Amino acid sequence: MPRYTVSDALVLRRSPLPSGDVVLTLLSEHGKWRAVARKGRLPGGNLARLSLFHDVTVQAYRRRDDDLAVLTQVRLNGALSGLTRPEAYPYAHVLAELTDALTVDTHVGERLLAVVASGLRGIGSHDDPEAVALAYAWHVLELAGLAPQVGAAAARPATVGDSPAVPAGPVPASAEATDTVAAPVCDRCGALATRLAVDAGRMRCDDHGDHVRDVWLGEDGARSLALAVRGPLRAAVLAPPEDRKRAWRALQAYVREHVSEVRAVTALARESA
Ligand SMILES: [Zn+2]
Repeated sequence: MPRYTVSDALVLRRSPLPSGDVVLTLLSEHGKWRAVARKGRLPGGNLARLSLFHDVTVQAYRRRDDDLAVLTQVRLNGALSGLTRPEAYPYAHVLAELTDALTVDTHVGERLLAVVASGLRGIGSHDDPEAVALAYAWHVLELAGLAPQVGAAAARPATVGDSPAVPAGPVPASAEATDTVAAPVCDRCGALATRLAVDAGRMRCDDHGDHVRDVWLGEDGARSLALAVRGPLRAAVLAPPEDRKRAWRALQAYVREHVSEVRAVTALARESA
């Protein structure tokens, strides 16, 4: 085993120690790992390069395989300055903390790094960082194999239900494509879903949903969630749920049931309560 490794990484979490050293949780293509940056021991660099959400290339040293890696070189590839804006910061935390929670026991795969990096860039630059965070949060759940089942792609209601599958009024081409690609359907009857059965991880229509336990999303909220799960993410960001409070409460309930408490999500769900 080589003692030195070089990897691209995102800084998901940083914990300063009383000694001045900093323990970092990093996300690389091979998964999540932890390393320590010793105060005053990074040649040509400083700990500011290892700020939260930074995109870095690091060289790390391990004496033995099970040792905590010690960082010996850091190159900053991108500091996402937009993420320090107060309107973006809480949403960057949602994505970083959710990713951290999802990778506790499992290796989620190489795509995760690319998706999280793209989500952070979006949160830092988009004029609606909240929409970006919601879409990417559902999508990283999908990458971890934990997203709700949103029904078969391109499915139309098997029976003509109360809910029209196509919204009234003029439909732009993109919205029509959205409708056929990502309309979420009830797992019981195939009608357009409006609810999320949190514990079952399934979408339900009004007739088959549990009106006490399921989270009501509305048609637009359910559609946005389905787009986020199935992609394309760009379309999900462009079709955010209208009721953001409800969307955060749904995400919080779902994450708590299927992953763990994620403080940044809970904070937003409470704030909007
Ligand atoms: Zn149904």
